[in-house]
Amino acid sequence: MKTLNDFNFKDKKALIRVDFNVPLNDKFEVTDATRIVSAKPTIIKILEDGGSCVLMSHLGRPKGVQEEFSLKHIVNKIEDILGVEVKFSPNCVGPEAEKMANALQPGEILLLENLRFHEEETKGDRDFAKQLSKLGDIYVNDAFGTAHRAHASTTIVAEFFPENKCFGSLLAQEIESIKKVMEDGEKPVLAVLGGAKVSSKITIIENILDKVNHLIIGGGMTFTFIKAQGGSIGDSICEDDKMELALDILKQAEAKGVKIHLPVDVIAADAFSNDANTQVVDVKHIPDGWQGLDAGPKSIENFDAVVNECKTILWNGPLGVFEMENFSKGTIELGNSIANATKNGAFSLVGGGDSVAAVKQFGFENKVSYVSTGGGAMLESLEGKTLPGIAAILD
Ligand code: AMP
Repeated sequence: MKTLNDFNFKDKKALIRVDFNVPLNDKFEVTDATRIVSAKPTIIKILEDGGSCVLMSHLGRPKGVQEEFSLKHIVNKIEDILGVEVKFSPNCVGPEAEKMANALQPGEILLLENLRFHEEETKGDRDFAKQLSKLGDIYVNDAFGTAHRAHASTTIVAEFFPENKCFGSLLAQEIESIKKVMEDGEKPVLAVLGGAKVSSKITIIENILDKVNHLIIGGGMTFTFIKAQGGSIGDSICEDDKMELALDILKQAEAKGVKIHLPVDVIAADAFSNDANTQVVDVKHIPDGWQGLDAGPKSIENFDAVVNECKTILWNGPLGVFEMENFSKGTIELGNSIANATKNGAFSLVGGGDSVAAVKQFGFENKVSYVSTGGGAMLESLEGKTLPGIAAILD
């Protein structure tokens, strides 16, 4: 696996695929710069070597050229974060971009306009990738968030750098973190899977049963399992057509020696609302008219014991409707348990969509070992898929 350390960038131009798909407000100001900050180590290492950087990214989902999706809006923010002037090319390919890239001196940075202003980007067009490849000597992929897409800038362009391609430090860290959990994690290994639906997590569950010793299943998924086992779940969310599969998963887990932990009690509400009446009930005896929206106190205690017994922990998906304060306790307490286990030496990885949002919202970001930057890319990695953007560098 080639990383930045395998190259000396002195007098070289690095063509770097970054993920600067940052949220903007209606004044086109960056409201969360995490993704820019995450790319900083890669860019600084190349500049310090005496090289220059050509940065390419997408922003949003434009249909053709649309001013509001221009990357020019974020130039100042990048300059603030890097402390270096950033030049801007109003097209990501073509004579002007080539001229600007050629003129780039060691220590300088050029940002290209939104790749997705050209539909060839998402189509993975080879000719478009070839045009991009003219802008650098070494291709660096540091965009984990798009590594599951075989787009021109994330995958196809690597073909034109058979020897001179590598992972940036962010992408390398993502790969290492996933490997630590899925391949060589210290045992016992635990996965906590929450979120709304079994259907969106099935492939992950099936893949993960071969990797873990313990599996905590929480959130809305719980009720498909509980109903399948004969419990009464009231009005809780449930996928009836997945009940058989749920029983099959339980059987597979038993055969593989994986211990499954489901909530034993829940906070039930009489409406899907923060203002609803609530009561703590046994997960198998939820009255009609009530729905389970968070893990109950006994479940939280049980999960805490499991988490603190484990040396490697993966967390994907909240344990309740954490967006509503009255149903956020299960998710917060799980975060506390994982933070505590991490303090005591466990490796913890949080990844994929809503759990990342929860971790940030409740301030656990610096109390776990690693928070993944990629939603879809993380989920596909957990499903056991090889991501095209990663495969293209490994080739
Ligand atoms: P996912 O994207 O699959 O990780 O699902 C995250 C969503 O699941 C969040 O928006 C939560 O509000 C929701 N969720 C978690 N627990 C429950 C529950 N018991 N009932 C309904 N939705 C839930």
